Amino acid sequence: MPELVLDVAIEKPGFSLEVSERVALDEITALFGPSGSGKTTLLRIIAGLEPAARGSVVFDGQVWQDDKRFVPAHERAVGYVFQDTRLFNHLTVEGNLRFALRHGRSRASIGMSEVISALDLESLLPRRPASLSGGEQQRVAIGRALLTSPRVLLMDEPLSSLDTARKREIVSYIEALPGRFSIPALYVTHDLDEVARLSNRMLLLSVGRIAARGSVGEILERIDLWPSTGRLEAGSVIEARVERHEYGMTHLAFETRTLQIPAVDEVPGKVLRLRVHARDVAVATEPPRNLSIRNVLPVTIKRIDLDATVHAELLLGVGAQTLRARITRDALEDLGLAEGQQVHALIKSVLFEGRL
Ligand code: ADP
Ligand code: MG
Repeated sequence: MPELVLDVAIEKPGFSLEVSERVALDEITALFGPSGSGKTTLLRIIAGLEPAARGSVVFDGQVWQDDKRFVPAHERAVGYVFQDTRLFNHLTVEGNLRFALRHGRSRASIGMSEVISALDLESLLPRRPASLSGGEQQRVAIGRALLTSPRVLLMDEPLSSLDTARKREIVSYIEALPGRFSIPALYVTHDLDEVARLSNRMLLLSVGRIAARGSVGEILERIDLWPSTGRLEAGSVIEARVERHEYGMTHLAFETRTLQIPAVDEVPGKVLRLRVHARDVAVATEPPRNLSIRNVLPVTIKRIDLDATVHAELLLGVGAQTLRARITRDALEDLGLAEGQQVHALIKSVLFEGRL
């Protein structure tokens, strides 16, 4: 697995970025941070698009930049996917792809037919980019990046301009790329749902510094990071295995219990990654009855965090995994909740994020 070793700094009016980090690029690594935190700047530094950046960038042992040299952008083996596709409108889709192929690395390892089939581009080939939907344009832009035969894909919020339905469509293409082409990706986003869907590991960027790195689950659970991750987004990422499908629902084995979610098209035995928002989890001290909520699990309160507002966040243990619940302080006191206590978690909704 290639390693990216960064020790870089840059100053812009009113903003500075300083990053020293070794990133093991395995499949998709998410670079997450709020708007203005410096994600695009960092990606551009890696790609060689910020000549004012100081320090060093070393990819898989190759020095792309240090105090003696600066390898220009076109000689770095990166496939860059811009937020705003940047396709050539005077060329057809096929023309755009062939252009990339011609201007890519001399030892091209990725061919047209592979890319066309991986991204379902066949029917788009004769068209002009301007006549395509946003999602189709992004697929072409990703194809173009791949055709330069890069060693790493750098993707800058490729889904941010799309609606939810289109996002879902493209995410499954993106998800499959690292495995299919043996290329890791650094994927920039400010959308935690995308992070949870695409990646197990993330770097959290906050005002030009890496504030945290690690598994998506761990980072979402850290209360000290809420100013960057956004507290309403807080929740947990869990893993569960498909057991069976029944009456439009899929039953999942979650630790020693069963979770039900609206049917997903995955075969029994598959392990799925799911996301549960803290605001979608409630707790009860007695097993509730006559309830519309399907998912009620016995859990242990592992930790109670109070914040500056009227809310409390509970960390709930379910076997080896954890869930977060967000309740009011009022409820906390009324129910007399304490750390170590056994309670029941009522899960209002579970979002299917992807397959592991
Ligand atoms: P993100 O991609 O996380 O939204 P950016 O890397 O685009 O963040 O920007 C980080 C900061 O740098 C922002 O405060 C932005 O205003 C500033 N910035 C980015 N590019 C320039 C530029 N060319 N000139 C001046 N300031 C810039
Ligand atoms: Mg940006």
